[in-house]
Amino acid sequence: MIQLEGITKSFGTLQVLKGIDLEIAKGEVVSIVGPSGAGKTTLLQIMGTLDKPDSGRIVLNGTEVNRLKEKELSAFRNREIGFVFQFHQLLPEFTAVENVMMPALIQGQPMGTARKEALDILAFLGLSERASHKPAELSGGEKQRVAVARALINHPSVILADEPSGSLDTQNKGELHQLFFDLRDKLGQTFVIVTHDEELAAQTDRTIHMIDGKIKMEEL
Ligand code: ATP
Repeated sequence: MIQLEGITKSFGTLQVLKGIDLEIAKGEVVSIVGPSGAGKTTLLQIMGTLDKPDSGRIVLNGTEVNRLKEKELSAFRNREIGFVFQFHQLLPEFTAVENVMMPALIQGQPMGTARKEALDILAFLGLSERASHKPAELSGGEKQRVAVARALINHPSVILADEPSGSLDTQNKGELHQLFFDLRDKLGQTFVIVTHDEELAAQTDRTIHMIDGKIKMEEL
């Protein structure tokens, strides 16, 4: 599903990734942990094609990402990768359903199809009654679940999540984590999650420990 080979990345004179090799299979829920500055977010951004490595190879769902031209790459990213960040990044002027529809519209789906799909996903996530609310009218946990719905709409190969529960209280945190595992069990959804949450990391199928730009250890 995801293959990374020999990924390196520097910002100026600071080498942040020092040769990362990693394979992630379909339906795996993988966590990436490690101290601040270890390069976790940089690795996730590169995996998500939001940033380019200085060297190395990335294959995502059979496509060699390095070979895609800029325009192909943004369509590929929108179709194949769902993102969930620490702060939901929903557009405040749009309702929950409109936010969820957005990646499908970008992908060229007709308005009616995108709306129906978005409503189905919101229902699946137990958010039907919140569909016409704007982000300011949703709780923190609901906003993150809407962000997950948006990440799901194009049926991506993988969802990449960067500290997805970092801004949530204990109960909402637990619910969001449970949602990830439910989506893996019911849809076979693959997740890669950067987290400082030890409880979440302990629940994932595999934990990758990063230190100083390298993978130090993998734990099943
Ligand atoms: P945290 O747990 O604090 O989020 P992290 O392991 O995710 O840390 P990264 O965000 O990947 O770490 O950052 C790794 C290093 O690269 C840090 O020293 C950071 O300051 C630096 N860095 C990240 N992005 C950039 C950038 N765009 N320009 C310059 N330096 C950067």
